[in-house]
Amino acid sequence: MKPATLREAKYMDSSHICDFCGGRTEVRQEELVFTYGAGDEAVDLRVIVPVFHCLDCDEAYMGEEAEILRHEAVCKYLGRLTPAEIKAIREKYGRTQEQFAEVSGFGVASIKRWENGNQIQNVSADRLLQFLADERNYRRAQMMPGSNRPRPTFRTEISDRTSQEAAEFSLRPVANQKLAA
Ligand SMILES: [Zn+2]
Repeated sequence: MKPATLREAKYMDSSHICDFCGGRTEVRQEELVFTYGAGDEAVDLRVIVPVFHCLDCDEAYMGEEAEILRHEAVCKYLGRLTPAEIKAIREKYGRTQEQFAEVSGFGVASIKRWENGNQIQNVSADRLLQFLADERNYRRAQMMPGSNRPRPTFRTEISDRTSQEAAEFSLRPVANQKLAA
């Protein structure tokens, strides 16, 4: 097989265009080793990611998918839900991020950051998310005040009679009270 044919065959497997020269690339699955954490808590994590190799300029680079896989590797190392898993919990109930924020009590900005992989949720948030993955817990959260319903607005009207009763009210020793039958 001539090299030119081989190059063409590889190109057929990938529609990716080189970010540097616009040339043809091929994708190879390669092990990426990266350090997570610092000092004594630093660990080396390994993950298999797609790496684009340009057949024209010899550049090699990783795309967005590699970033996602890298982020997932950190989540798994920490024992936390991945962005895709969090999104799946929310979508299981057919909720938008705003609606899910109402039921869970999380800020919608936090939910966006977790789902985008811009931030990893802390342990308590992760546990609450895992509880909400159970439909019974989700339904219970929905029933709680402040969930999935408009914020209450209180309008207070105090009648003259209520004001009068309030003015006359005083605490008395229990012994002096008569129990209602
Ligand atoms: Zn190139």
